[in-house]
Amino acid sequence: MSIQRRHFLKTIAGAGVLGVTPRCLQAQERVTRATCGMPAPRIKDISVIECQPAGVRLTVVKITTDQDGLYGYGCATFTQRADLVKPAAEKYLKPFLLNHTTDRIEDIWQSCYDSSYWKNGPVLNNALSGIDQALWDIKGRQAGMPVYQLAGGKCREAADTYTHADGAEFQEVIDNAKRYMEQGFRNVRVQVGVPGMAGYGARRSGISPKALHNKPLFEPAYYMRRALKLLEVCREQLGDEVELLHDMHERLLPNQAVQFCKDAEKFKMFFLEDPLSPEDLGYFRQIRQNCATPIAMGELFNSPHEWQPLIAERLIDYIRVHVSQAGGFTPARKIAILAEQYGVRTAWHGPGDVSPVGHMANVTLDLVSYNFGIQEYSPFNERTQEIFHGCPEMKDGYLWVSEQPGWGIEIDEKAAAKAPFVSGPDNLNGGWGEIRKRDGTVIKQ
Ligand code: MG
Repeated sequence: MSIQRRHFLKTIAGAGVLGVTPRCLQAQERVTRATCGMPAPRIKDISVIECQPAGVRLTVVKITTDQDGLYGYGCATFTQRADLVKPAAEKYLKPFLLNHTTDRIEDIWQSCYDSSYWKNGPVLNNALSGIDQALWDIKGRQAGMPVYQLAGGKCREAADTYTHADGAEFQEVIDNAKRYMEQGFRNVRVQVGVPGMAGYGARRSGISPKALHNKPLFEPAYYMRRALKLLEVCREQLGDEVELLHDMHERLLPNQAVQFCKDAEKFKMFFLEDPLSPEDLGYFRQIRQNCATPIAMGELFNSPHEWQPLIAERLIDYIRVHVSQAGGFTPARKIAILAEQYGVRTAWHGPGDVSPVGHMANVTLDLVSYNFGIQEYSPFNERTQEIFHGCPEMKDGYLWVSEQPGWGIEIDEKAAAKAPFVSGPDNLNGGWGEIRKRDGTVIKQ
């Protein structure tokens, strides 16, 4: 019998003498196995859990190991093409990884990343994120520690957040913002509807102007003037004590975006988000040359070729990647560290199209990264919490990480099965429709 095996059996026997419960014993056994040099767990199964508890399709990868009760979860949510992520994980990554040990996360990430030859696409990156985050969850459960401890521990107690205050009219936005401020939020994203048009982040009102089509309508110049007026009204009525954010959602032409950022400078924003689309990154230099408005960018990014130049040239202030779209916790941690070297702070994408496992990965990054900026927050409804036990907790505008091992989240798979994907009347399977200008030109969503 090896020395490690003797040490292992002695420790387990000791736990039994102390009269601990079977569940504690199982956890103790995992920690002891990990610390006594026992063979690492091996991947026995990879499955995908899909559910839609709050109107948005959520996808989570589950890795089951050959050790009793040891498994992990990872967020793989790409809600607009959700049905494609499951086969990417189960038909390609599962056979590639079966019987691999779980202990080499970086090595597994790199080998999976290379295994498709063509890479950096949203479907493959989300499947990879599911694997990556599930492996971190397993490592945390083995160690008996939350993932934030494995990444070096906390830089702060909790993550400061912003939430969404919207409305069809200015007054409705103001009223909602005040309500959130009374709840303790110090930062609010403000969005107002554009009458008769499909504005982003707020419901529409009024009758659509005449157009050469019957699709949702949007005119960038009109939105630009209305949104700037909203920022003026918000600063006047909400005062200087609140931080204001606004998502331009890449709806403007590049030269309009430069003008918008310049005109918004006087409102002293926390940040303006996504002034440009990933196709127009070259215009960030013009924004920088024209104003000091803080800029957040990156929720649509999938490739290092997109975020590296913006960070290295200090063209943005906040990197706003959707963690699963970049491939998971492992690459996101590297983005945070790269950004820290250039004075860029983090603002991970965190609306409803992130599963609670993904939100826990976000808040873990928030707490371990010195250059944390702010965290976008979306509440978890009751149905979501019936499926995902242990969602990050919100108190007074701060988001708190779990202190349980791994991500600290357990998924009730029976409850998830009762909230399946729902196809809407458009039969787009979660995909988005189209928005067009008056003359019929399609525009970016
Ligand atoms: Mg956005």
